[in-house]
Formats: sequence, structure tokens, C-alpha cells
Amino acid sequence: MTALRLDGKALAATMRLEIAAKVAARTVAGLRPPGLAVVLVGDDPASHAYVRNKQKGCAEVGIVSTRYHLPATTPEADVLRLIADLNADPTVHGILVQLPLPGHVREDAVTLAVGGRKDVDAFHPENVGLLVAGRPRYYPCTPHGCIELLRANGVELAGREVVVVGRSNIVGKPLAVMLMQKPTAANPAAADATVTVAHTRTPDLAAVCRRADVLITAAGRAGLITPDMVKPGAAVVDVGTNPVGGRLVGDVAAGVEAVAGALSPVPGGVGPMTITMLLDNTLRAAHLTDG
Ligand code: NAP
Repeated sequence: MTALRLDGKALAATMRLEIAAKVAARTVAGLRPPGLAVVLVGDDPASHAYVRNKQKGCAEVGIVSTRYHLPATTPEADVLRLIADLNADPTVHGILVQLPLPGHVREDAVTLAVGGRKDVDAFHPENVGLLVAGRPRYYPCTPHGCIELLRANGVELAGREVVVVGRSNIVGKPLAVMLMQKPTAANPAAADATVTVAHTRTPDLAAVCRRADVLITAAGRAGLITPDMVKPGAAVVDVGTNPVGGRLVGDVAAGVEAVAGALSPVPGGVGPMTITMLLDNTLRAAHLTDG
């Protein structure tokens, strides 16, 4: 078997055309374009690359993005003051603070400072709470991207065994929540799946993974998922992005494509979908604020 390629790059391109059309329609209706403020503290090269890609995505669809690049030594109070100013700025619909932050700037304090309506990453506890309650304001970008990628490729989720490897607040935990929830009008991306979450204390990871009709790995460990851990025909989504020898690889080892029924590549799988969901959230933020 050679797995169907879950091509996030192609799907993201199609979805961005739809977002661009909606942004253009707002302009025709006399509304201001969606605005995204991107706050970057320090000089982490990977963070700079992520921000570049996010701003490129914004430009593609007509979202006005503004980058605020602060030196790594910026005191936390100054970062919080900038976020307060952006909260009060009506041209800014979404605020994204690129992680990781320098050690002296508390991630929790920054997450709490971003106004709930402008929190297009969906990291604020208010938005996490709404998601868990089944009334999401925004879906978190990477989990939403994974689910859209599977759905668009015809991978059924309802009633199926899904294993998520990883339980972080950014990927694994919200993804598990979305996958297990009952879909409703207020929560259309919910997937009605039977979900198992694995992590470093899971005793027999291979046995747990082999149960999965759909296996989603977000561990950040190159080569963690080997062919013997995959049920023949399963769909595998590789969220991992691990720098190895100057390039990015996923968590999935070579040979899985011969066992799986579908597999997302790295790069070109979840990454472009994550950015597209951020664009979608920023458009939604503009709707919520300006109509
Ligand atoms: P994280 O905060 O480091 O969390 C990793 C999770 O994986 C933890 O829950 C950890 O378990 C678990 N894990 C690590 N090694 C494991 C192992 N050997 N066996 C079982 N579980 C293991 O990372 P993250 O922020 O969720 O990101 C995960 C990966 O996705 C990274 O490679 C990151 O770069 C990538 N990512 C990609 C995108 C994208 O758009 N493509 C977006 C976000 C993240 P414990 O909780 O027990 O430590």
C-alpha cells in the first residue's frame, strides 16, 4: 500500500482563496479589512521564519498584518503595555504573540493580557473554557487544521478510534477535546470520535498507536512513529516539526507510508493548514467586532 498524501499545501491554497473572497466582500461592503498584529520578542530564527510565513499568508488573503518586533531584553511590562495598546486599537482584530518568549517574560501573563476577542490563537483561558464547554469562539489553529485536513480528504472521524500522541496546551489537549466532542451548530468541527491521548508516561505506546484508525502525532520526536506502530490502512497525521540536519522532519519514520492508508507530509501537511486557520480566525475576529 502507498498512503494517500494528505496534502495540506494544496488544501490551504484552496481555503485561502475562499478567505480572500470573504475579505474582499467586506471591503466592498465598506468594512475595514481584518487586521492582525504579530508580536515577536527576540531573535529566535525559527520564530522569525514562522512570523514571515504568517504575514505572507495574511498578504495572500488581504488581511493587514503589522509586525511588532521587540528586542529580547524588553521588560515584561513593556510587552504587556504593547498588548494593552493593541487591545484598544480598533484596526487590530487579532493579536498573535509568537512563542517562545524570552525567559523573563511570563507566557501566562502574556496569554492573559490578550483580549479574548482578539485571541486568534485561542490560548486565553476564556477561549479554552469556551472550547471545552462546546461553544468555541475560536478553534485553536493546529488542531483545527488537522481535522480539516482529514475531513477534506474523506477520512471519517465519527465513531472511530483516534489516538493523539502529545498532550500540550497548543496541540494535543485541544485536539483531543475537539475530536471527542459532539458536533453542534455552535461547534461544527467537533468529530464524535473515540479518543485516546498518549504521552511520555504511556507504558506501551506502540500497542496504543496500533489501535488507531486515525493516528495524530504531535510529540516533536523525529522518527517516533515506526511502521510497526501503525494499523494497516490507518490515516496518519504528522504534526511534528523537528530540525534534523538542516531540514525539518516530522515524528513519522520512513516506511510508514507503506502501511498507512493516508499520511500527511512534513513539510506541506499540517503547517500550511495551521496558518490558514489563523487567517480564518482573524477574519472571524473582524466579523465579531465590526460585523
Ligand atoms: P510539546 O509542548 O513539547 O509537547 C509534546 C507532547 O508530546 C508532550 O505531551 C509529551 O509528553 C509528548 N511526547 C514527547 N515525546 C514523547 C514520546 N517519546 N512518547 C510519547 N509522547 C511523547 O510540543 P507541542 O508544542 O505540542 O508540539 C509538538 C510538535 O508539533 C513539535 O514538533 C512542534 O514543532 C510541532 N508543531 C507543529 C505545528 C504545525 O503547524 N505544523 C504547530 C504546533 C506544533 P509529556 O506531556 O509526557 O511530556
